Amino acid sequence: MDEDRWQRLEAAIAARRDDLVALTQALIRIPTLNPPGRNYREICEFLAARLAAKGFGIEMIRATGAPADSDAHPRWNLIARHEGAEPGECVHFNGHHDVVEVGHGWSVDPFGGEVREGRVYGRGACDMKGGIAAAVIAAEAFVETCPDYRGAVEISATADEESGGYGGVAWLAERGWFDPDRVQHVIIPEPLNKDRICLGHRGVWWAEIETQGRIAHGSMPFLGDCAVRHMGAVIAEMEETLFPLLAGRQTAMPVVPEGARSSTLNINAIHGGEPEQEPGYTGLPAPCVPDRCRIVIDRRVLIEEDIAEVKAEIAALMERVKARRPGFGYEIRELFEVAPTMAPRDAPVVTTVAQAITHVLGRAPDFVVSPGTYDQKHIDRIGRLKNCIAYGPGILDLAHQPDEWVGIEDMLDSARVMARVLGMLLR
Ligand SMILES: [Zn+2]
Repeated sequence: MDEDRWQRLEAAIAARRDDLVALTQALIRIPTLNPPGRNYREICEFLAARLAAKGFGIEMIRATGAPADSDAHPRWNLIARHEGAEPGECVHFNGHHDVVEVGHGWSVDPFGGEVREGRVYGRGACDMKGGIAAAVIAAEAFVETCPDYRGAVEISATADEESGGYGGVAWLAERGWFDPDRVQHVIIPEPLNKDRICLGHRGVWWAEIETQGRIAHGSMPFLGDCAVRHMGAVIAEMEETLFPLLAGRQTAMPVVPEGARSSTLNINAIHGGEPEQEPGYTGLPAPCVPDRCRIVIDRRVLIEEDIAEVKAEIAALMERVKARRPGFGYEIRELFEVAPTMAPRDAPVVTTVAQAITHVLGRAPDFVVSPGTYDQKHIDRIGRLKNCIAYGPGILDLAHQPDEWVGIEDMLDSARVMARVLGMLLR
């Protein structure tokens, strides 16, 4: 974009510094806790009123019937769209408006939006109300400074990212809101740091594995068949053959932290035998041979892997254990899966954001991939749009922690980057 125009745009961002801080505070002060999904309508209406006043068209969309949607906690989403002077491409900023529980250990009011030493504090400050605020400021500055632009700018505030996105981006994508003929570039301002471009994320497969035996009296275990011992054999087989195999499988995805550059498997939970009693129960357990034992596995998948093969690998492991253990029964119940996704390095949104970062910050960005998933999965798989990244202010490690904060200078810098990206893509 030409230098004169850029100077005006940068000045427009700088002039909005107080507005940016106040907006971030206002968003933090609406406690959009998920679960259960509080105040979704309030936060969408707040942003809708603001953006309508700046000339954006507003759509309020409830994900009626989505998981967790109810009249008590409706899953509201907002899409705001500003049309340029001529038709052209659409750049879309997508932020989730929900936040996770507060937890313990805070030294500030989690919903106070306190400003201290250049930081705004609160639950959701970095993940990701600061990112939404930066995108709003960038978009407002751009449409005011460059009203003759070509194309459209969209901002969405969507529900339930923290619980899978099914009442938010997945819902909207299924209804065409992210179709490539409507939206051409998507930036998700998750807190990946202002100088990093997140190209995508690893995939995931969750499953519950149950081993099956036969109940009997604990004093005569030979009359029963212990499901916990069968599970012990399953885990021993994982230790011996699977974990070393997964650790040796390295990806070309630039995942951070580096430990996540191989395939991983976590055993999220294990349970066998008698259910745990309520706290305060003073009796002893009863002697039984457990006839069921369950684990929940959390397998993270690299872009080089095929999810069908990942599942077959676990099935083969179970069959190996079965072959060695007479009477062994098992069941695998699939819970959840997401394919890995990664925008190509030469995708237009990637190269444009990279150029804008280099210009604004004076250094080239790092390209990273997230170990866990976020809403890009739905935009890619359901919306069929590959030209999507995460880019936004904030430090990822602070997400979900006590005393979460976002830096004001970081928000301003990433708003500059976002505004410049609009200037470059919507000429
Ligand atoms: Zn987030």
